[in-house]
Amino acid sequence: MNNPTENLDRYVRQMLYPPIGEEGQRRLLAGRALVCGCGALGSVVAETLVRSGVGRVRIVDRDFLETSNLQRQVLFDEQDVAAGLPKAVAAAAKLQKINSQTQVEAVVADVDHTNVEALCEGVDVVVDGTDNFETRYLLNDVAVKRDLPWVYGGCIGAEGQTMTILPHETACLSCLMPDAPPPGTTPTCDTAGILAPIVGVVASIEAIEAIKILSGNRAQVSRSLHVIELWDNQIRGIDLSHLRGQVDCPTCGRGEFPWLEGRRGSRSAVLCGRDAVQLSRPEQSQVSLAALAEKLAGVGRVVQNDYLLRLWVDEYQITIFSDGRAIVGGTDDVAVARGLYAKYVGN
Ligand SMILES: [Zn+2]
Repeated sequence: MNNPTENLDRYVRQMLYPPIGEEGQRRLLAGRALVCGCGALGSVVAETLVRSGVGRVRIVDRDFLETSNLQRQVLFDEQDVAAGLPKAVAAAAKLQKINSQTQVEAVVADVDHTNVEALCEGVDVVVDGTDNFETRYLLNDVAVKRDLPWVYGGCIGAEGQTMTILPHETACLSCLMPDAPPPGTTPTCDTAGILAPIVGVVASIEAIEAIKILSGNRAQVSRSLHVIELWDNQIRGIDLSHLRGQVDCPTCGRGEFPWLEGRRGSRSAVLCGRDAVQLSRPEQSQVSLAALAEKLAGVGRVVQNDYLLRLWVDEYQITIFSDGRAIVGGTDDVAVARGLYAKYVGN
């Protein structure tokens, strides 16, 4: 282990690629990455980074494994599900078997404005494996504030998108989308479904962008938003270089970080004695309950009226009000409630 030549042997094919070389490999070995969310995208990203020899990989995820994850979350197997392990823990164990030379740190946590800065501490790049825009805007705030590169990625159905943000050099997420989509308007994996191959494609692009950054090849980083639709055979790159400096971006232009300061995003409160958690938002948002009812029809039993929508799924009862507020019954765990909201309502 102490012989540096020996340490590099396993990366020989990667070092043969001239832009990496031994120099790039040594940089990767000294590199530190945060993989935020370890579901489908995070599995592929984390595995690729660990196999490539990124020195330290921190994985954060709030969720536990379920059988329905196995179709696309390639780090996990039936034994992990049977053991009821948190995804971050199961992932770290698997990754450490794949490459014992890398340091893998598992954090089981719900990423919010109170802990996101600590989670980003001491890393050189953040890679998106989350399932919701609230966390992505939070990551974007931290990244721009700290000049920390991050790679956005998301998938639904057979479609995916990814872009890389080099703060103050390329467009950021707020340059592209000044506002997060309102709750309930975006499809989620749990309402619209997802096919495994799109995950592999988007996550692999995210991983190579991280590898470029960590290996000292920032100039090679993509300046485009990649939109890939595998079912209809469409692959597009939308050049974003014109956005930087052209739009009046609150985040990278004016240095405002409302998500990080907790002025945007959901608030949670455990409802005493009710085995329920309330999730609310400081900002105004209007949810179309009829459209949401349609979206959730295949998920579980849904009842909807002018004021609220109620969904029964597994052992939970989720009540969503037209202002986006929700009460998740069947749990007093805030992370579980936020996870269910991201899965079925989406934001
Ligand atoms: Zn921006």
